Amino acid sequence: MASSLDRPEVSVDIKNISPWYYEIVKFKFSLLQSLRKFSRKIDEMDYYVNTDPLTGLMNRRGMKFEIDKIISMKNNFSILLIDIDFFKKINDTYGHAQGDLVLKFLAEIMQKNFRTNDICCRYGGEEFIVIMPHSNKQEAYESAERFRKIVQDTYIENIYSLTISIGIASWTENSNDISEIFKQADINLYKAKNNGRNRVIPTV
Ligand code: GH3
Ligand code: MG
Ligand code: MG
Repeated sequence: MASSLDRPEVSVDIKNISPWYYEIVKFKFSLLQSLRKFSRKIDEMDYYVNTDPLTGLMNRRGMKFEIDKIISMKNNFSILLIDIDFFKKINDTYGHAQGDLVLKFLAEIMQKNFRTNDICCRYGGEEFIVIMPHSNKQEAYESAERFRKIVQDTYIENIYSLTISIGIASWTENSNDISEIFKQADINLYKAKNNGRNRVIPTV
């Protein structure tokens, strides 16, 4: 058992040992203790592997893992592709460190404003994705629009104004290629940018 601590059921097997003398009691206790330490360490590493260090949101790898899980359960979902408007200007005007604070702040209000079931991710640079499990097109649109308004109306210290554009796409029972959903969200985001920014383009 000591040589196969990676077996999922090994802790139960160890607990079931009835020690027949004192050294076995000690050995059993030590084994269980190191097992607990290992699994805590693995959980911690899992967290770091799947988390964006700046914002604390899920990174791309974590996002992919969550999406695969939702698809395997045959559930519908929508994705909101969120991009900060003129973020380069924020960096240029206030500095990169202030830009980082804006990203962190946006991640915070994102997590506060979406439901606990919704999964907020940093997709890259100043782009974010919110996965909304079970949501239909209308719900996704309403949530995106609500969040867009919140960002527009939120005062951020030292920053004159912050707005976002959002492109939406939905995975339904007829979908079979996740890259198509991302492509659709990207097209809609592009439209939002071209139509003047600070707006949401829903899925068709
Ligand atoms: P648009 O409205 O078209 O989206 O304009 P934009 O300026 O937001 O878009 P663009 O893609 O030109 O600029 C994105 C900027 O985001 C450029 C890059 O320096 C900045 N950026 C990307 N990642 C980070 C980051 O981690 N921290 C900071 N501070 N800036 C970042
Ligand atoms: Mg961008
Ligand atoms: Mg941008």
